[in-house]
Amino acid sequence: MRRSGFLDLNEVVQHPGRRITVPVSTSLESEEDLDLTRAVTGELSAVSTGNVLVLKLECATTAVVECSRCGASTELDLEIRMHEEFTVEGIPSAYAADSYAQVECEEPGLFQGNALHLEEIVRQGVWLSIPVQPVCGEGCTEGSAASEEPSSGHPGLQGLQRMMEEGMA
Ligand SMILES: [Zn+2]
Repeated sequence: MRRSGFLDLNEVVQHPGRRITVPVSTSLESEEDLDLTRAVTGELSAVSTGNVLVLKLECATTAVVECSRCGASTELDLEIRMHEEFTVEGIPSAYAADSYAQVECEEPGLFQGNALHLEEIVRQGVWLSIPVQPVCGEGCTEGSAASEEPSSGHPGLQGLQRMMEEGMA
């Protein structure tokens, strides 16, 4: 059923109401920007309504991220919860012998026909679960004073800014 990271969902797409749940376990080795201390593990379930393929991804991992305040490397437990819906075009073969339904996905790389690129959806889920400004601990206030200093902007733009101010005067 699995072929080079792809999960064939054709059975699900052709049989609305049929749900499959598969275990997920990947260390996302091809993702160089991610530093995971344990594999992403959990499960993915898929079911089609006939017109819509519904995917639910629930997994967990631990990533090493940089604290947005003090810059220290810190381990962060991540809970990945994803609910995605994809349009299904055509009539499922369960409804008519010579028909065929296929997932319509505009996002390149996610589907190949009715096969889902499992690693890709897990990769997206992990990135979405990482906070924009991770903090090493609740008490970390390091560097917060620095961020209160008034920004002087890009040095290259200061001259331009002065010229504009003078021009307006
Ligand atoms: Zn910190």
